Amino acid sequence: MTGATSADLVDWLVRFRALVKEHQGELTELDSVIGDADHGSNLIRGMDAVVARVGNDTLVTPADLFKNVGMTLVSTVGGASGPLYGTFFLRFGASAGGADTLDANALGAALRAGLDGVVARGKAAPGDKTMVDALTPAADAWDAAAADGASPSDAATAAFEAAERGRDATIPLVARKGRASYLGERSAGHLDPGATSVTLLVEALRDALAAP
Ligand code: ADP
Ligand code: MG
Repeated sequence: MTGATSADLVDWLVRFRALVKEHQGELTELDSVIGDADHGSNLIRGMDAVVARVGNDTLVTPADLFKNVGMTLVSTVGGASGPLYGTFFLRFGASAGGADTLDANALGAALRAGLDGVVARGKAAPGDKTMVDALTPAADAWDAAAADGASPSDAATAAFEAAERGRDATIPLVARKGRASYLGERSAGHLDPGATSVTLLVEALRDALAAP
């Protein structure tokens, strides 16, 4: 595949919802250690609503698709992650402009725009033990692969592997943003739930772009 259509991007959302369902207990468990034990339930509520609303929207533009996704997440998921995930998708969609198909460069730019939106909204820097710690290396790896002429599928594979490393690197970090920061030094030694869920988001994108 040289470019992702809205059908491929709906497939991404459906696959992300399935991965969240599969890992819901694990996400909640991680959030019970350094947060308030709702990250899994927050995300599945949001993604169930997203798939119910846009699961058949394969003929709209990516921009319109993700505008709907972002607004659905903002309105159905509370806490920190709803507005952050919502902003990610709103910016991702806005980056797509009027395009019907997103090639590796356009997908990388959209991923970067989504990340920038999360940073603008949540003010987290890399190293603060948040979803930014997995999204940043993913966007960097995507750009590097795309600059080398990688296909969307290969760029997404590189981005997923980078996200996994970024996720795992949150374990020793002390949280400086969100609820986990209330724990101070006691937040160290645990995976960040949001870094874990955004790694599932990139995994789902890899799987959707690899599909025939
Ligand atoms: P809440 O913290 O409101 O209960 P969730 O449990 O759904 O929300 O999400 C927690 C995750 O949100 C954290 O693991 C972290 O990755 C992410 N997060 C929290 N605050 C921020 C922030 N300011 N910037 C980026 N990500 C954040
Ligand atoms: Mg929570």
